[in-house]
Amino acid sequence: MADFDLIVIGAGPGGYVCAIRAAQLGLKVACVEGRETLGGTCLNVGCIPSKALLHATHSLHEAEHNFAKMGLNVAKPEVDWEAMLAYKDDTISGNTKGIEFLFKKNKVTWLKGWASIPESGKVTVGDETHSAKHIVIASGSEPTSLPGVEVDEEVVVTSTGALTLKSVPETMVVIGAGVIGLEMGSVYARLGTQVTVIEYLDEITPGMDAEVAKSFKRILGKQGMKFVMGAAVSKVTRSDTGAEVTYTARKKDTEHSVNADIVLVATGRKPFTEGLGLDALGIELEPRGQIKTNAQFATNIPGVYAIGDAIVGPMLAHKAEDEGMAVAEVVAGKHGHVNYGVIPSVIYTSPEVASVGQTEQQLKEEGRAHKVGKFSFMGNARAKAIFQAEGFVKLLADKETDRILGCHIIGPAAGDLIHEVCVAMEFGASAEDLALTCHAHPTYSEAVREAALACGDGPIHM
Ligand code: FAD
Repeated sequence: MADFDLIVIGAGPGGYVCAIRAAQLGLKVACVEGRETLGGTCLNVGCIPSKALLHATHSLHEAEHNFAKMGLNVAKPEVDWEAMLAYKDDTISGNTKGIEFLFKKNKVTWLKGWASIPESGKVTVGDETHSAKHIVIASGSEPTSLPGVEVDEEVVVTSTGALTLKSVPETMVVIGAGVIGLEMGSVYARLGTQVTVIEYLDEITPGMDAEVAKSFKRILGKQGMKFVMGAAVSKVTRSDTGAEVTYTARKKDTEHSVNADIVLVATGRKPFTEGLGLDALGIELEPRGQIKTNAQFATNIPGVYAIGDAIVGPMLAHKAEDEGMAVAEVVAGKHGHVNYGVIPSVIYTSPEVASVGQTEQQLKEEGRAHKVGKFSFMGNARAKAIFQAEGFVKLLADKETDRILGCHIIGPAAGDLIHEVCVAMEFGASAEDLALTCHAHPTYSEAVREAALACGDGPIHM
């Protein structure tokens, strides 16, 4: 008899959720984690620490820029960087310990150490080999490297180093205008760092609705972030005071350089599968290194599955979690399913940016006749009261059937607002369904309803 019904490799949001759900379904489960703490990239060096720093620095921004407007006269806030990092670390440990508690509660065995798979049905951790009927690989991802750029995590850092800088730098260059670069760039810009973002493409956050991206870049620019677009970084050289970043302006083909105390390399992430022994096992990979799986998350090796950042799809914690739950159902003999058409994505800057479903550009490329309902937060009383009326909600619906096809929001609490549209899309709702749903006043959600009204006879407050 096998030691376990299921061994999950990796305790990030994909792995730990899979382990807990499988245990809830009655399986005997172990989860292997090489890190000292559970929770993976997300809890230790990703979503959670970055959000803690975003929250702290957003509060600073509020105190510096908006308190006096509301009649709150306080002394200029002082940043105690060490205390801010300690708050971030407390937030991490509160959450990682929470997963430990959930493992105990659900009787998931935590196998501590780095795992390899010598053969199907076997997992080696340290000197011990355990047998399992099923294996789920949830080994996550790591930052990509850039030719000519050597990361030392002190001056030239990835997001991991950017979460533990020794002091707040005066200047920072962020290479890459994606989600991670802009979130971490925002943290430091609010702390007073002069942040310059260098991006290869002509637009920030590729894949985002173009209108939202344009507005987002303008707002970040107003907050003091500088952008160098269409620029290919060729090398980063350490200097006495920091580093020099050399780049080529792609259109003009001219070479430039900029100095900074800190350089954050935020050019994306790639699957992490080192040490698992996938080659020897004969596991097929995708051309870009992800583990190849079918719709049921099965690899080409019977009994071995893979999920999360290690397989194709958006590298998001909630996508990994959904796959974790679905694959647990599959190995328990049930039906696991993930609707990839309704996976929200959020950027936790201020304002927040959130989207789900198709963009207008995608609909145009497909030649799908559609309606656009837009509503500015200028018409939302609540957003105006908190000085965040700059953004808008853009709802896309099929021209004939009125079915909601996508939604793109830039504005207050966008990351929460997007979920009413996700639920509506899961139920195949029309824009009219949203428009006819009573929304409490005064809430930011009223802007979503108004965008839905704009898909029909028109919004009220615009
Ligand atoms: P991971 O979280 O990477 O976990 C994999 C785990 O497997 C790791 O702990 C690793 O140590 C372990 N492991 C790997 N190989 C082995 C082995 N052989 N043996 C034992 N253990 C092993 N996503 C969001 O949705 N929202 C956000 O706000 C967000 N913010 C982010 C901010 C930053 C700075 C970063 C870097 C990422 C952010 N992400 C965010 C992305 C998110 O963290 C990932 O999509 C998510 O963590 C992927 O989950 P996962 O379970 O697939 O892998």
